[in-house]
Amino acid sequence: TTEAKLDLVKKHIKAFPDFPIKGILFRDICPILKDPGALTAVIDLFEEHVRQTHHQVELIAGLDARGFLFGPLLAQRLGVGFVLIRKKGKLPGRTVSVPYTLEYGQAEVEMQEDAVAPGQKVLLIDDLLATGGTLSAACELLRKNKAELLGCVVVIEMKDLRGSERIKPATVFSLIQY
Ligand code: AMP
Repeated sequence: TTEAKLDLVKKHIKAFPDFPIKGILFRDICPILKDPGALTAVIDLFEEHVRQTHHQVELIAGLDARGFLFGPLLAQRLGVGFVLIRKKGKLPGRTVSVPYTLEYGQAEVEMQEDAVAPGQKVLLIDDLLATGGTLSAACELLRKNKAELLGCVVVIEMKDLRGSERIKPATVFSLIQY
């Protein structure tokens, strides 16, 4: 059942206080990947959501780096392609990028210019939504590429940080909330 799958996923998320800096409670998804049952549960739950809510999806776009772990598995289940949204400077050829502010300093997300076709229906995926800075930059990147953004999916949402507000009008679906 859905409940049992969510339980299994939750059991495989480990919390590390004060990582990478003091005051941050880091939620580690590595145990999910180490357990085939938990990983299958994550993809099952995402698949169920997408088939119900975004059945018209044509492409999954994953965020650097942990979005790359779940995205291709989900894309294969759905029979659609997967593209990479990377940190700047990693992708060859012509690219499009969007800068955004981090807690300290600046960063930039980037994708290949031909990664999405105009009007293509795209779903964004990452492991975790915190402040929403990264995901909102990725949303803007897809808009810039004239994609039709259906929504975002993440394994974990840190509710207190209100990331879902920041990515509006895009919507987010999360499996686990803290
Ligand atoms: P944000 O842009 O603040 O939403 O941060 C999102 C990105 O940072 C995600 O790709 C996460 O992988 C990572 N991240 C932020 N906060 C945490 C946390 N508490 N635990 C694990 N990863 C995090």
